[in-house]
Amino acid sequence: MHTSSRLVTTAASWAACLAAGSLLVLSGCASMAPPDPVVVIQRAEAAMGGADIQTLRFAGSGTGATFGQAWQPGTAWPKITVSSFSRLVDYPSAAMRQEAAVSRAEPSGGGALPLMGLGEQRTVGMLQGNWAWNMVGPAPVAAPVALDARIHDLWTTPHGVLKAALKNKATAGSRMVDGKSYTTLAFTEPGRFEATAYINADNLVERIDSRQPHPVMGDTDSVINFSGYRDHGGVKFPGRIRQTMGGSDILDLQVSEVLVNVAADIAAPELVRQFAERVAVEKAADGVWFLAGGSHNSVLIEMKDHAVLVETPLYDGRSAVVLAEVRKLVPGKPLRYVVNSHHHFDHAGGLRTAVAEGATLVTSANAKPWWDKTMTNANRIRPDALARSGRNAIVEGVSSKRVLTDGVRTVEIHEIQGSVHAQGFMMVYLPAEKILIEGDAYTPGPPNSPAPAQPNANHVNLVQNIEQNKLVVERILPLHGRMVAVGDLMTAVGRK
Ligand SMILES: [Zn+2]
Repeated sequence: MHTSSRLVTTAASWAACLAAGSLLVLSGCASMAPPDPVVVIQRAEAAMGGADIQTLRFAGSGTGATFGQAWQPGTAWPKITVSSFSRLVDYPSAAMRQEAAVSRAEPSGGGALPLMGLGEQRTVGMLQGNWAWNMVGPAPVAAPVALDARIHDLWTTPHGVLKAALKNKATAGSRMVDGKSYTTLAFTEPGRFEATAYINADNLVERIDSRQPHPVMGDTDSVINFSGYRDHGGVKFPGRIRQTMGGSDILDLQVSEVLVNVAADIAAPELVRQFAERVAVEKAADGVWFLAGGSHNSVLIEMKDHAVLVETPLYDGRSAVVLAEVRKLVPGKPLRYVVNSHHHFDHAGGLRTAVAEGATLVTSANAKPWWDKTMTNANRIRPDALARSGRNAIVEGVSSKRVLTDGVRTVEIHEIQGSVHAQGFMMVYLPAEKILIEGDAYTPGPPNSPAPAQPNANHVNLVQNIEQNKLVVERILPLHGRMVAVGDLMTAVGRK
């Protein structure tokens, strides 16, 4: 490689030249070559002590937010307190282990964490190569829906982004942000994400703008800011990391500990490598099937000349097997409606696949404007079925109640009022079958669970809504967990 000092001087003056304005561009910049990206990377790695880093673990605490779990569609993600956070990255193995302990900092919104004031949620998320999984106690559980975000998070660390830029043959340029001039490195990790790293005058990575595919939002933007760089035995690492995702804050971390080249030893377990989505079909009534077999369920309802599917959760890999089962169980009838219980991303990640098959999305009137907009988001990084279909989504908004009927079977869609979990929260009721379908308002515990000392506020709210709507319910088909008799819910709220 050429001696880098002259080229970097060139890079810096090229950046300054472009930043100074078009007159100078015309007079001077045109004769200058753009900076050599390899040299830019080498200079940054030298300044940040990154060239020899194989593994790195950073830890800290701060605040964050639960992505995709807003109470009201289109507003900021619900705030959380991050009492502890660590990320161990292993660049040669493309592996990561991220641990966090989080609790709610505001009462409303979704997510698997306990209600406000009722404790912490501890998570361990893993990545190696093209496998993502979570540790639930000692047990690995495949988490394919998390794969894109984890690949993104591994390679948008301060040193990781330089390695990814080198591997993906980044192009170098320059940009002004808030009056400061940066040398930029722009690259694409094919099918996974695009990024632009901003290198400041001290050759430190100060900011990363990125875009990753998402099953609900399509191409989703992040901005990560690194500040307060400190020296850790020759390796420079930021003291503060702030990130936005999908337009609002997701993490603000104060880094308290950095360890370099620690043992990592992260390998995807065989169970995770062999994982395939599967659907466990249980007939709930004539023409009504409970489609379980994963962390989230769907319910298929056969009508005279079409099918109705309640919920397409997670991501297109899940909806592909669910829709295959729909075609098997109700052959020859088109899927006319897909009903979404609520807009939280874990419940909505397969909607685009169902819409691509021609289904009308039935959602709350509250969520309809957000869905109308979100369904048209660009989906360029890894085009999905809807992007490929060229279809426009048809979204029907329900306020308070909507009845679907074919003259024989009746399907009622009711809005759940007064929930802290979500606005535009829908449940589905089959009056003839006395079946209620709901998600996240009540998830049954293990069989014969005793009543909790303090009933869960969401369970109490669901019972109130059943009673206000005078629904006669015998069985609940929950969108998480197992089918239960309504007595299980009543026990949970202390009625029996
Ligand atoms: Zn939810």
